[in-house]
Amino acid sequence: MTEVATAPRTGDTQELSRISHWIDGRMVPGRSGRAGPVYNPATGGIAAEVDFASVEEVDAAVASARAAFPAWRAMSISRRAELFFRVRALLDAHRDDIARILTREHGKVHSDALGEVARGLEVIEYACGIPTLIKGEFSEQASTGIDVYSIRQPLGVVAGITPFNFPAMVPMWMWGPALACGNTFVLKPSEKDPSASLLVAELLKEAGIPDGVFTVLQGDKVAVDRLLEHPDVAAVSFVGSTPIAKYVYESGTKAGKRVQALAGAKNHMIVLPDADVDMAADAAVSAGYGSAGERCMAVSVVVAVGEVADPLVDAIKERATKITVGDGASPDSEMGPLITGQHRDKVASYLDSGTQQGAKLVLDGRESTPDGDGFFLGVSLLDDVTPEMDCYRDEIFGPVLSVVRVDTYDEAMRLVNENPWGNGTAIFTRDGGVARQFQFDAQAGMVGINVPIPVPVAWFSFGGWKASLFGDTHAYGPESVNFYTRGKVVTSRWPDPATSKVNLGFPQTR
Ligand code: NAD
Repeated sequence: MTEVATAPRTGDTQELSRISHWIDGRMVPGRSGRAGPVYNPATGGIAAEVDFASVEEVDAAVASARAAFPAWRAMSISRRAELFFRVRALLDAHRDDIARILTREHGKVHSDALGEVARGLEVIEYACGIPTLIKGEFSEQASTGIDVYSIRQPLGVVAGITPFNFPAMVPMWMWGPALACGNTFVLKPSEKDPSASLLVAELLKEAGIPDGVFTVLQGDKVAVDRLLEHPDVAAVSFVGSTPIAKYVYESGTKAGKRVQALAGAKNHMIVLPDADVDMAADAAVSAGYGSAGERCMAVSVVVAVGEVADPLVDAIKERATKITVGDGASPDSEMGPLITGQHRDKVASYLDSGTQQGAKLVLDGRESTPDGDGFFLGVSLLDDVTPEMDCYRDEIFGPVLSVVRVDTYDEAMRLVNENPWGNGTAIFTRDGGVARQFQFDAQAGMVGINVPIPVPVAWFSFGGWKASLFGDTHAYGPESVNFYTRGKVVTSRWPDPATSKVNLGFPQTR
């Protein structure tokens, strides 16, 4: 319990016997006596143990972040931007190192891990533009001799609580804009794949980010609960499952904090009869099975409208059977394992419940699972799924694609809009008019038109509707600058003291 972990730069599991906290610019071994296993999902073996912070350790981390805030906030914006360009360069130089850690602890294939880092880096690039992003507005002579201007100021210590499925990118969505805006940041990464954040912490230090500005606190519910109630934490960003997002939102706001909590999803991809079947099948397979379906923007339901259903299911099946499942570190693998054995078994259980409830099992991933103890499940396809089945109602978060057959666009749209989640949705069609109607009708925060995973570019914001988001503000992009700052409006005049007199009337502007 006392061994100090080294932030992994090489992807060598031997260095990872103990994964600790990063507080005040250095690795700090946990003292709580509590820890959890970190698996290599490709082998099923325990690769390391991660410390779980106690309440006292959370308090120490927040105290360090609080102490670092005044100087960080006072640093000129142009100097902060300069540091961010350095952060960007170092992250860019270490893409491969970060990606290898992601593959080792999460299981995703190396190319997918590189893609995750690339999308996270786009948010850091956006944050490099902080001088422009945080600029206020100015009205000269708003009233006679009076100027009015607005400024945005950081909140203080903000916390981020992140899920296992994007251990590098989702934290970057948060700490990038939060730090650029002048806050200090305490990250509580997923305990399932906690190491990437430690390498990032080292790189931030190397770039010149002062100690205490970025903290990594490893842990579980104990750490989350303390962050949610801590009086010195001004705001909390959360990404994870819907029940925990709701809990975090309710607890954090009750404690007076600003909270954004991005949650689970059930993303529908509608395929209209006029769509190009091959293109739609390519998209459904890529978006359904990429990262083994462990993406909040994964397509999990294909809604086949009318006569497109039979050729579409055939085309998906043909492509899906060719996917090579294996260790994400192998260049031959296209899809890696799931995060834990328990999660793999839960995902597989939807194949049984689906068939028991009347769905047709077109592809059974249990039959194409690689040998060994890794947490693998091959690609699976359920057809004739209906809305009352468990495989439709639950977020499966695995390589299981469900096909629902309907007769009309209106029926398809009803499925999207009556679903409790509203993260992403997509339509495949050649008809511009219907696509535009879809964009107008869809009750979801992110809409794709012939794009299956419509994750917005970094200068727009990311977020769902309904049970996919608790709070008002989406992640990254312009909304993140609003989330991580408070507005202030200054009304200013420099009158000649000789003209000063008492006036009890309400101030007039003309
Ligand atoms: P999770 O909700 O289990 O965990 C997320 C975070 O919450 C982790 O840091 C975890 O330690 C913490 N946590 C877990 N249980 C807790 C509890 N009882 N009390 C306090 N904290 C707790 O989610 P996960 O399994 O790591 O990630 C997968 C989920 O995240 C999926 O539902 C997926 O859709 C969602 N997700 C959503 C988005 C989005 O942008 N909407 C993005 C990525 C993932």
